[in-house]
Parts: sequence; C-alpha cells; structure tokens
Amino acid sequence: MPSLETLLNTCSVLHQHLCPRQVLGVRMGLLGGRLLGIDVPQTDKRLLTLVELDGCGADGIAVATGCRVGRRSLRILDYGKTAATFVDTHTGRAFRVRPNPAARDCAQDYAPEATTRWEGYLLGYQRMPEDELLLAQEVALTWSLEKLLSKHGYRVTCEQCGEEIINEREVVVEGRILCQTCGVASYFHPVDHFATEALQLAYAMPYSSGYEP
Ligand SMILES: [Zn+2]
Ligand SMILES: [Zn+2]
Repeated sequence: MPSLETLLNTCSVLHQHLCPRQVLGVRMGLLGGRLLGIDVPQTDKRLLTLVELDGCGADGIAVATGCRVGRRSLRILDYGKTAATFVDTHTGRAFRVRPNPAARDCAQDYAPEATTRWEGYLLGYQRMPEDELLLAQEVALTWSLEKLLSKHGYRVTCEQCGEEIINEREVVVEGRILCQTCGVASYFHPVDHFATEALQLAYAMPYSSGYEP
C-alpha cells in the first residue's frame, strides 16, 4: 500500500495543489479500504464509494481508493457533506466514514509550527491518530446494490423525449418508461433565443489544439 505521503503527492498533482480537505479525503479512503479488508488503491472495481460532496475531498478519496467516476466505482451524491460510504460489492458490507467534528479544533495541536490555521489543518490532519480524526459506522444501503451497479449493456428509450437511457436509470410513470428529466424533475429547460446564437457561433469557430472531428 502506498504511503500517505505518496498518495498526497499524487493528489496534489491531480488537484494542482494540496489542501486540508484532500488530506481528509485520502485518510477517509484509506480507512474505508481497511474497514472492508480491501487493498487500496484498488485496481479492480470491487470497492464502490458513494461520496456525499464534490470538490477537494472527493479527489482525495478517489486517489486513496482507486475508485473513479469513469470506472463507475465512485458516485457523487451532491449533499454538501464531508462523508463517504465505502461498499464491498462482493459482500454488500458498507461503512460510512466522516470527520470527527472535534478534529477541526484538535488539528492545530498536532501542528504547533503552523503559521496559519489553514496550515494547521493541512499538517494536523496528516498527523492526527485516525480515531481522533475520523468517525466510522457500519451501515446497510437502502438502495439496491444490484440496481446501483446495474446491468451492462442495458438500454431503453424515453417514451417522452426519445433519448436513450442506460444503467437502468429510467422511471416508470403511469405505465410509461421515462428518463428522470421527463419523469422526475429536470435541471434545465431549453432557452432557444440564446442557444441558437451561441450554437451558430460555436459551430462556425475553428477547433483549437489541432482537434479534427
Ligand atoms: Zn483543494
Ligand atoms: Zn425523457
């Protein structure tokens, strides 16, 4: 298993700086793997991580666990909470890990040389004993793990907008198969007057960096 220092180096390259939340994320990921007895960073997709926020902490968790959005082993739930649930997809066992609320105050004690509070968090979070820094609880998922992972190659078409839906993410409303945009709630609505102008401009623009479609 790579050292905390190696993981933080990897993280700072990916993230373009090192910050306290990444340290928290890396240490959360390491604990998640250990609680489940899974070697991290993983090279397969056995560990599934549900992260309850995006941003710095999520990058730290991704680096420590080897879970990736692109490999469907990392899911972002935009709850704005520094917390993550680590799931062993072979057994269904899961642990939710979050920072100990007291850690913020204690961090400074572990970094007496820090010249700012920020630096105190950055160093303190690396040095604090795990049981002071993090809290963990075994949990049972209320979502079906099978549904969460979904069937490979499965696809249906939304009966309203005609767009394709994969990964079993459709909903059935009054007997109709719909995408979540049509059947639950949409996060967008079309704005024709602006889109027309912007699209014409974009289509007319040459591609930069030598990209040829
Ligand atoms: Zn950051
Ligand atoms: Zn639709």
